[in-house]
Amino acid sequence: MNPTFAAFAAHAYTEAGLDRADPLRHDSAALAALWPCARVLRLDSQLRAVVGADGQWQPQRPAPVAALPGDALFLGIDRADQLPWFARIEPVAADEPVVELRQAASQWPAPMAARFAYARGMLHWQQRTRFCAGCGQALAYERAGFVARCQGCGSEHYPRVDPAVIVAVEHEGQLLLGRQASWPAGRHSLIAGFVEPGETLEQAVIREVHEETRIHVEPSSCRYQGAQPWPFPGALMLGFAATAVGGQPQVDGELEHAAWFSHQDIGLALAEAHPTIHLPPALSIARSLIAHWYDRRGQ
Ligand SMILES: [Zn+2]
Repeated sequence: MNPTFAAFAAHAYTEAGLDRADPLRHDSAALAALWPCARVLRLDSQLRAVVGADGQWQPQRPAPVAALPGDALFLGIDRADQLPWFARIEPVAADEPVVELRQAASQWPAPMAARFAYARGMLHWQQRTRFCAGCGQALAYERAGFVARCQGCGSEHYPRVDPAVIVAVEHEGQLLLGRQASWPAGRHSLIAGFVEPGETLEQAVIREVHEETRIHVEPSSCRYQGAQPWPFPGALMLGFAATAVGGQPQVDGELEHAAWFSHQDIGLALAEAHPTIHLPPALSIARSLIAHWYDRRGQ
């Protein structure tokens, strides 16, 4: 493994510690046999996790006599203790505490937050994929929740992931950051955007940076750094580093401000000590990429 990837262990939702065990998705009898010893992540209809009074998630065990529900989503097998994990949307009492996914990232053990992210991404797709896009008939879920089959034309629909690139662009020891008007005061981050059909990841990096800042990226400089599932609702953030050919950023669209920042500025911002610049929170790949650039440039 590339040693630089170690710098990307800090952001959330990346390692759930599960074997997704695809063959079991095809074997409903085996899944039914696993159900009595399952751990079940309960989510409410707004896809928040049902937790204990301490805000931590306490995985539920199903009642021994209950059969595997048809809407149980099979997440996989825990690599540590081999227990099967499922997720379900269930009715939740008004006094049961719930936790949002962003909150879980900062308060839960990392593998648990990653399981929540995985379940939330899948269940969000199911909630919004009820009818066939081809013929309009209802869909029914198969393979433990991973395939939606049209009850009219028989076509299969699969979970959707939307790739997006995010890039640490540098030029002569400075880092390019921008901000959107809607962000909290002082918040600056890296340039990011969704990949479009017919485009490579590197082409998306070059296009997004130019669209948002008019800065040209050196095409051969784009280097993949790591990824982060970002299930708000269904993105996969693909992190890059790149070098610009130079110039001053200009903004006229999505961003209200973009500029080059020095190594010293970034160091102060990472230490939460910069007077005007605030970086994204530690759970994000944006911050991992910025911190990695800072460490690399400091060597
Ligand atoms: Zn159909």
